[in-house]
Amino acid sequence: EAFQEMSLHPNILTDIAHHKYETPTPIQCQGIPIALSGSDILGCAETGSGKTASFAIPMIHHCLQQKALRPGDGPIALVLAPTRELAQQIEKEIKAFARTSGRAARSCIVVGGVHMAEQRHELKAGVEVVVATPGRFIDHLQQGNTNLDRISFVVLDEADRMLDMGFEPQIKEVMGRLPLRHQTLLFSATMPREIEGLAQAYLNNPITVKV
Ligand code: AMP
Repeated sequence: EAFQEMSLHPNILTDIAHHKYETPTPIQCQGIPIALSGSDILGCAETGSGKTASFAIPMIHHCLQQKALRPGDGPIALVLAPTRELAQQIEKEIKAFARTSGRAARSCIVVGGVHMAEQRHELKAGVEVVVATPGRFIDHLQQGNTNLDRISFVVLDEADRMLDMGFEPQIKEVMGRLPLRHQTLLFSATMPREIEGLAQAYLNNPITVKV
């Protein structure tokens, strides 16, 4: 299936063309229509498969379907990733597909190892999408710099690595505090028992996508 046949917002199709993505990769072919249908996804995919765009594209589409944020509103979409480097890569890709949408799909990155102040400023200025490492995201929540009130689209990327790094308590804290109605996409390169447990706890009738 071509990107043009996926009923994506025209802004996103413009950005896909700019980005020179001509044909969707297998995970994008499978995952994007499922995500657009509103279903939860358990994705078994490695880096290199095109999985970032498989969630970034429907995530931006979702943001463009929501009412505009008002001052003080929290983000609509959240991506949790294990490392600062991965979070940076993801946010870069999100920005690429959100270029034409401008203020309707702003994003920021929230990771450890840098000062809180600039991130606080960006969060408070208002963003639709936050890409974060779990520990630093919790720090900002605790300081009241952002909130989960409007989160309706969540991605747990490289969930197996996040568990390996000891982020299970932070993931559980965030997932446990989300509003009732939300869509969750969980990606993992491996599917050990702990990931199955996370999926059971936090995914609602997920469709498994495997490449
Ligand atoms: P990822 O698995 O998300 O880390 O993506 C791996 C690489 O493939 C990245 O450099 C992407 O920019 C690139 N890529 C992802 N999807 C496509 C596509 N449909 N066409 C061409 N390149 C792509």
